[in-house]
Order: sequence, then C-alpha cells, then structure tokens
Amino acid sequence: MKKLTDGNGRQIRYMRVSVTDRCNLRCRYCTPTARFVSLSHTEIITYEEIERLARILAPRGVSSIRITGGEPLVRRHLDRLIRSLCRIPGLRDISLTTNGVLLAPLARPLRRAGLSRVNVSLDSLRADRFSWITDPSGRNGSVGPDAILRGLEEARLAGMDPIKINVVLMRGFNDDELEVFAALTRDREYEVRFIEFMPLSPQGFWGKEKVVAAAEVISRLQALNGTLEPLGRGKGSGPAVRYRIPGHSGTLGFITPISEHFCVHCNRIRVTADGKLRTCLFSDRETDLIQPLRSGASDTEIFRLIEAALKEKPDGHGIEEGGTIRTCARTMSHIGG
Ligand code: SAM
Repeated sequence: MKKLTDGNGRQIRYMRVSVTDRCNLRCRYCTPTARFVSLSHTEIITYEEIERLARILAPRGVSSIRITGGEPLVRRHLDRLIRSLCRIPGLRDISLTTNGVLLAPLARPLRRAGLSRVNVSLDSLRADRFSWITDPSGRNGSVGPDAILRGLEEARLAGMDPIKINVVLMRGFNDDELEVFAALTRDREYEVRFIEFMPLSPQGFWGKEKVVAAAEVISRLQALNGTLEPLGRGKGSGPAVRYRIPGHSGTLGFITPISEHFCVHCNRIRVTADGKLRTCLFSDRETDLIQPLRSGASDTEIFRLIEAALKEKPDGHGIEEGGTIRTCARTMSHIGG
C-alpha cells in the first residue's frame, strides 16, 4: 500500500493526537492567559474517529501514535482508546504525554490496556516554583512535584519502560535545577529530557533570553560529572540526542528545536482536539478532518486529504527567519504538545 510521504519525500511514521484541550494545570508558558473557552463535547474528536484515522494511516506506514492534550488523563476512559489502538495491525508504539497529576492511580489500568511507555512533564522539583508555573491563580494548592514523582514511581512499578521526564528549561525560572533533574537518573532508569523553550507561549511570556541551549546544559553537567557518554538518538529516531552520566542508571535527552532544529528528520503529523491536521508544529495552516470524518467521506478520501496537506508540509519550522522570531496563533495547550 502507498506510504504516507510529504512533498519533500519524508515518510510520515508518527502521529500525535490531542484528545482534549482541557487541562488540570494552567502552565504560564502553555495555556492562554485570556479566559479560555474549552471545546464543547461535540467539537472534540471522538475515540472512534481517532481509531479510524489510525486504521487508515497504519497500513500507510504510521507506526507510532502519541496521545496528548490539554491533559489527556482528564479525558474519561482513555484506557478504552489505548486498548483499541493496540489492536490495530502495524501500530507498534502507543505512547502518552501527561503532566502526571492523575498518573499514580491510572498507571496500572493504562499499562493493562497496553500502554507501555509514558512521558511526564515536570519543570520544577521545588513546590513553590511548581505552583508558580502551573497554577497562576493559586487554585490547585495541593498539587506539587511530590504527586508527579509518585505518578512516575507508579508508572515504573506498573512496568512502563521507558519513562521520560520532560523539563522545559527557562532561564531565571528553573535553570538552576538542571543538575538536580539530571541526578534523578542516578538510581532510576528514567530519561530526563531537557527541552528548549519554544515561542509557542501566551503573548509576552516567551523571550529568547529565556532559552537555555542544550550546549550550555551539557557543559554544566560535564563540569560536575565528567564527560557524558554519548548514546545517539533513541529508538525510532525521535528528536532527542541522548547521553548518560557515567555510572548512572538512566539517561539524559536534549531536544533542541531552537539551537539545532531537526526538521530534516521530521516524520510527524499532529491532530488537534478539534480534529484539525497540522503538518508542522509551527505552521498555523490546518486541514479540517472532523467534517469529512462525520459526513461520510471514505477512507480513501480521508487519506487523500491528509496526503494533499502533506504536500505543503514546510521543509523547516522557519521560526527564526530574517532575524526575528515568529510565534504561532495557538499555544501548545491548544495544539496538543
Ligand atoms: N498536559 C500534558 C503535559 O503536560 O505533558 C500534555 C500536553 S503539554 C502541551 C505537552 C508538552 O508541551 C509539555 O511537556 C510542555 O512542557 C510542552 N510545552 C508547552 N509549551 C511549550 C513551549 N513553549 N516550549 C516547549 N515546550 C512546551
């Protein structure tokens, strides 16, 4: 069967699907500051529609699906979606990105449904900073980094592997914690991934001066721990370049959309919670899939729509062209990170 490729011949193997635009946190750099009106039930892509897209794309070479949001664990019965995706021939890798708040009680049911790995976002190990970044209005009081660490531990005990911790470094906020995050890999086989802060934030929150480039992180960690052992890219050639601190059980990953973009290897598409296809995180050009999915389009017609959109997939994200930084119309919480 014809494989899914873009206009530059890159084969698409990976789809990220946002299952909700709702989130139980309000991270300052991710959620719009203006009053945020969530999608209504009928606007949100259904599990059946996601499964249908997966069935259309799996035989065409899409072998990995990541479930994201908003916060995916606030959507009910997520285990049902995972179970149905796991049954699709050709889909070899189903993963989840979560803020971890609800992970502790859900790790085992999700593992039983077939989820074998998880990425958990955690930007500070200090309770005061965690509250500041995730809860600007001070409503979530009781949620702190300890709850997320418990979720990580439950995921480990449930047998998920790998478990990745995503840390968005922001200078002046958490860049003094990178050594503490790296130390989490000493006894646990976690992969701690440092992600460069991207200009996808509510107006005014992002600034180039806040980006901490991977090279700086690596040199600080080498000064403390000696030469890091290079491990190359992980399975499935994801965007992270990986290292190990000598003697540590876990690994470190660096995701460098700003200092060294990896668009030439980009093999992904995204589907937003309202069923819009985005061929590039940074391109606001979207193709509506909900209407055709709901109005009787055949699988071939839907595939052709996706294929046509991919002809226009940008070669590179182009966020820093002509010396100025371009931002996007939607923030990450809306697009699905
Ligand atoms: N709620 C889930 C979570 O927290 O992992 C999934 C959605 S969240 C949008 C996915 C990821 O996007 C998180 O790791 C978050 O830190 C990251 N993210 C959001 N805005 C970002 C930005 N401006 N730059 C880099 N990463 C960002």
